[in-house]
Amino acid sequence: MSCIEEKVILITGASSGFGMVTAKKCVEHGAKVILGARREDRLKELCESLGSKNAAFMTTDVTKKEDLNNLVNHGINIFGRIDSLVNNAGIMPLSFIEQGRTDEWDQMIDVNIKGVLYAIDAVYSHMMERGSGQIINISSVAGKRLIPGSAVYSGTKFAVGAISEGLRIESAGKLQVTCIFPGAFETELGSSIKDEKMLEYLMSEAKYANLAQPAERIADAIIYALEQKPGVAANEIVLRPTAQDF
Ligand code: NDP
Repeated sequence: MSCIEEKVILITGASSGFGMVTAKKCVEHGAKVILGARREDRLKELCESLGSKNAAFMTTDVTKKEDLNNLVNHGINIFGRIDSLVNNAGIMPLSFIEQGRTDEWDQMIDVNIKGVLYAIDAVYSHMMERGSGQIINISSVAGKRLIPGSAVYSGTKFAVGAISEGLRIESAGKLQVTCIFPGAFETELGSSIKDEKMLEYLMSEAKYANLAQPAERIADAIIYALEQKPGVAANEIVLRPTAQDF
């Protein structure tokens, strides 16, 4: 029996990219999934394709604590428990500091840091009381080093790394905590970049072109973390395209 089979796995940011592919792979491995994101049409379509016995969703804005509490309760009501959280929702409106796009900075802090914390809070006591659980946070290689324009995004992703390590220490012996640091992969993430200067910069730098690898590779890394048997966790996974030198 796969270590994923029969698990109840909550995935944020499941309406596209890593979250969507991971949801499909989890169900292929015999798990139940409870999915959250803001785009209801996407979640509905995905759940229909996965089957109502295997998948449920609730429209969720991770910047709202209440939404995450409702999502967790919805999962517990339908499937009886939450075994694993894939804390994946995120945005990446890269920009240069001189552009002063402070609303985007606020949004990144709200989604990428506060959203991750609210999701952890929503499942933490449920998992600790049961004495087990898995929390997989999605950081980025931008959470290990910077490029021009990534100051705030990197700040949020360094925070995800720190939060993961703190969570690991404080939940020792009970929770399996993983932080994944992806390089460039094919998803919708780049569409949140609106700063024209940033877009021009990324287009003009040859090293940023044609790097991205399929999102399935990160979903496979998430599955690897989910497959770890009780008593052990893959604490950190860095996965980059081989052509990515940053
Ligand atoms: P996508 O843009 O394809 O997916 C992002 C997901 O996050 C969507 O499902 C989106 O759903 C959700 N989301 C965004 N804002 C909110 C919100 N306020 N509330 C709830 N859900 C939200 O990108 P990826 O799959 O690439 O991104 C997943 C994670 O991977 C992010 O944390 C990202 O930073 C990280 N990452 C991605 C890399 C890549 O190369 N693709 C590299 C490194 C890290 P909706 O809009 O429907 O709410």
